[in-house]
Amino acid sequence: MEHNPNHFKGEFQLDEDGTCISRKCLRCEIVKPAQEFSKVPPKINKLGVNSRCKVCVRESQNLLRNTPEHKEKMKRYNQEYVVKNAEVLYEKRKRKYHNRSQEKREKDKIEKAIYSRKRQALIKAGKISRYIIPKEKRNMYAKRYVSSKRTSSPPWLTKEHYDCFDFLAILASLMKSEHTRYALDHIIPLRGKNVCGLHVPWNIQILSSSENNKKNNRFDGTYDNESWRAYV
Ligand SMILES: [Zn+2]
Repeated sequence: MEHNPNHFKGEFQLDEDGTCISRKCLRCEIVKPAQEFSKVPPKINKLGVNSRCKVCVRESQNLLRNTPEHKEKMKRYNQEYVVKNAEVLYEKRKRKYHNRSQEKREKDKIEKAIYSRKRQALIKAGKISRYIIPKEKRNMYAKRYVSSKRTSSPPWLTKEHYDCFDFLAILASLMKSEHTRYALDHIIPLRGKNVCGLHVPWNIQILSSSENNKKNNRFDGTYDNESWRAYV
């Protein structure tokens, strides 16, 4: 391969095929073997390797990254990215969590049990509150629930219907054991995303509080509304 010595800046050495064996880095000005330079397409550098060695490239990148302007810029960019892609990121996190390995699942289970035991001990000792949500918010939620129950109660409900509710509530309280509490759940949620169930005795089932939390206001479009059970 014929080359014009003025065509490239710096010194270099080619083998018989015309591939670069070594060259002088334009930054640190040390002659280094071609492996110490990143490969680039001939369009960018006819030698097929970068004009600055890998060490120099990394160094100058680090210099740039450590400037306050760049840090500020990256911070702003990241903040904007998180806001713009909130939904995508949420889905990604959710998918990652659901696809976690069996090993991780076991580990999570143990960690959760340890955390729960510690928390229960602290609650018993009166050091922390049983509730995670602050009182004002809890009251607000309770008010909202009561009002949604009122608006979802058909006007034709009779005294017998209300007796049914009382009976179910007593039944749920009687089912309570040391580790499990039970609650009344509306099979078709009163405040679903796309549905408003009725507050009627035949829309009520008794669920353990953990099942109740898992179900939340999920609705699958069927009267049985059972698909939330498959949700891991
Ligand atoms: Zn260099």
